[in-house]
Amino acid sequence: MKSRFAPSPTGYLHIGGARTALFAWAFAKKQQGKFVLRIEDTDTERSTQASVNAILDGMNWLGLDYDEGPFYQTQHFERYKAVIQQLLEEDKAYYCECSKERLSDLRETLMKKGEKAMYDGCCRDKKLSSGAHRVVRFKNPIGGTVVFADAVKGKISIANKELDDLIIARNDGTPTYNLTVVVDDHDMAISHVIRGDDHINNTPRQINLYQALGWDLPEFAHLPMILGSDGARLSKRHGAVSVMAYRDAGFLPEALLNYLVRLGWSHGDQEIFSLQEIVTLFDLKDINKAPASFNEEKLLWLNQDYIKNATPEHLIQHLKWHLHHQKVDTDNGADLSLVVKLLQERSKTLVEMVEGLKMFYQDFKEFDKKLANKHFKDQAPLESLLAKLTQLDTWQADEIKSAIKQVCDELDIGFGKVGQPFRLALSGNGNAGSIDLVAALIGKEITLQRLEKSIDFFKDKQG
Ligand code: GLU
Repeated sequence: MKSRFAPSPTGYLHIGGARTALFAWAFAKKQQGKFVLRIEDTDTERSTQASVNAILDGMNWLGLDYDEGPFYQTQHFERYKAVIQQLLEEDKAYYCECSKERLSDLRETLMKKGEKAMYDGCCRDKKLSSGAHRVVRFKNPIGGTVVFADAVKGKISIANKELDDLIIARNDGTPTYNLTVVVDDHDMAISHVIRGDDHINNTPRQINLYQALGWDLPEFAHLPMILGSDGARLSKRHGAVSVMAYRDAGFLPEALLNYLVRLGWSHGDQEIFSLQEIVTLFDLKDINKAPASFNEEKLLWLNQDYIKNATPEHLIQHLKWHLHHQKVDTDNGADLSLVVKLLQERSKTLVEMVEGLKMFYQDFKEFDKKLANKHFKDQAPLESLLAKLTQLDTWQADEIKSAIKQVCDELDIGFGKVGQPFRLALSGNGNAGSIDLVAALIGKEITLQRLEKSIDFFKDKQG
């Protein structure tokens, strides 16, 4: 068993492509087969190295490893040429000299008559030889029907009279998609072609090519479309569709994979799948026929769940990129794994987590004005707290908590009246978790410094 992912490098790896890759990958793992990455770069005008890199980066970040490849179709041009030559020699293909004008007139005439725009086979029996501006067309069978059992969509049949003679080589001799995909899938011994259903109309044509070449057919599985929240096919308009944009926005790859696997596949009503479970449970027969809807909120919910349940070490591994990117140096200061442990309960994304952990490693410039107006009304609680904390010999969360309690008792105020200003004093924006734990992690020196800074803020305000 062998499956493949065959992206065209004309853009980044997007959500739809990643879902296709994941399904093909999961099926190969499940069947203990092989998974191949093939870059379909024959459209040299639209293919770029930057897109190739983006695809490789995306696959790598998601952890979708391949057993073979990456192969590049541009390295197989000789092979495609030989196959086209063979088809010409066996009279299964022919040169066509029809001009652009003739073809567009033909299209117009047919459309006017309400018929499907198809090539009329004008050059099919002319026995033309090669020549400038001549394309090569495949002699699609005239009669009969192409029938195949798609693993997702079921039985599909299409009459050959619906299919015209496909161009397999352009007038510059370069091969076209349907030819290259058949040659490579055959040469690479692909047993399962798993791809988006935007290719389902190509499949009967490809089947005819397989048959003309005397090659065995693979199984086909066409995945349902992914729709955006408005019911239209998912596209850039719906926001971030590039896989790496999700990395940048603070998603964990395993959360995205879990999300992707549910786009068109289900196993009962289970929502959370570890990668191992995906591999064990995945089956083509459980792929839905109906389109899947992309739901950003569900992805966020999953991400939060994964962050909550991950080990701090695992999160740190993925945080590194964000920390570097946001220039946050965590080498000096609080123990990062303890900070992460504190924050993982309440971070929906790693970006949020980085925001939350900045206060442990960096001084902030100013207090949030609104919060300062709300919580810095009375300086007595902070002054009293500063005095008490200064006297602490050991710096532990429970001692800090009891210092706060003492201040409450002495001033006869509630916990919030001390806790909130304290939280703001330490974080600048009030976004801190359990304040005794936070202060314990920040350390005594910085805690006292920030309390003093807040008290100075009062003085400035008054004076
Ligand atoms: N290269 C094609 C694409 O990116 C996929 C071809 C296939 O999977 O057969 O749409």
